[in-house]
Amino acid sequence: MSRTEALQKLSEDLRERLGVLRGVSDDHRREIRDADNGNTDSLDQASQTASIEVTARLATHESQEANQIVLALDAIENGTYGVCEGCQTPIPIERLEVLPYSTLCITCKVIAEKEGVILPEGESRQFRSSDEDD
Ligand SMILES: [Zn+2]
Repeated sequence: MSRTEALQKLSEDLRERLGVLRGVSDDHRREIRDADNGNTDSLDQASQTASIEVTARLATHESQEANQIVLALDAIENGTYGVCEGCQTPIPIERLEVLPYSTLCITCKVIAEKEGVILPEGESRQFRSSDEDD
């Protein structure tokens, strides 16, 4: 598969994901709105409030991800997608398939992490202690 074909495929996957996200996000917004309307039994109020907080957090996360997808799709159309912001070289398609919103190639990402500019995805700094020998 050529890079163009792979990007085409990725863009289809992203569109599909965007459709799913928007559907889920609409459901969550509806849930929040219904709760606001006092559409609940007062006994359930506390658990309802907690669940709405979770729902609101999910909705925020979903809309952030949807924004990232829209930006990625725009970049794919403009031909600027998948180019490393650090060194301007194309990011390998294998990396984009795993992390479609990557804006750095692995080399630049490692450098950025070493310099403490950004943290690795989903990791804390504790792994760094192994670097210290004394
Ligand atoms: Zn780079």
